[in-house]
Amino acid sequence: MIILEQMDKNILIEDFSQFNQIALIIEKNFYEEGKFEVLFSYEKRPSIKDFRTNEKIRNEYFDNIIHILKDEYPFTVSSRYQRILEIKKSPNVVGIINLNIDGILTLNNSQNVIDLEGNINWVYCSTCGMDKSMESVVKNQDDITCISCRSNILKPSMPFKGQDIAQWDLRDSWMLLNKCDNLTILVADQISPMTYSFIEIVRKRNKEIYIVDQSGEKYENMDSNMMNLNFINYSLDNFLDIMLESLNNKII
Ligand SMILES: [Zn+2]
Repeated sequence: MIILEQMDKNILIEDFSQFNQIALIIEKNFYEEGKFEVLFSYEKRPSIKDFRTNEKIRNEYFDNIIHILKDEYPFTVSSRYQRILEIKKSPNVVGIINLNIDGILTLNNSQNVIDLEGNINWVYCSTCGMDKSMESVVKNQDDITCISCRSNILKPSMPFKGQDIAQWDLRDSWMLLNKCDNLTILVADQISPMTYSFIEIVRKRNKEIYIVDQSGEKYENMDSNMMNLNFINYSLDNFLDIMLESLNNKII
């Protein structure tokens, strides 16, 4: 296990230039200190059964969403997300698993990004697959009955209580973890259980893992003998600048 500190910037740039199949995981609370993660947290979501069968609960939930989001459009792309959007363009980045639900990374182009925990920007019909933007629902107070099959209620694209995360997104994530030559994890405040299971997949393949953590967490529960596990105590913004520099050097 290697712990890199501020002074090792050049080492880091050199390190990253050797990878050409980088997978990124963006942990929760990456955007504006987790604003949307808190407002739309799993605990505040209804059960899928109540949402489907209880009109009062359903309407209350949509009213709450509209109340929260009505002044938010268009979502501000934070400088941190701007860096990610730049990194995403690199041919040496094979994919990004985003655990944040703001959906900002997939607004204009969803290629190579998996919104694994869902995306607050879309509502969809589980019967016919029709979808529409949450912005339209919020701004126009659209009817939430599916206009395509007319029999189903549109649901925000994130798991409610009693639901798992989308299996196809999970499969895509596993595929990504099984082809990357580097897994870099951007930690705002903590590593989620899902990420631990992803680390295990990459660790078994003996690929390099970088955990960039600005919280100063020590992770004593992690096996410190893991040769290919690197902790980087950097601010996320500084690290992203270094990563960009490294990726850009490579293109030249
Ligand atoms: Zn439908």
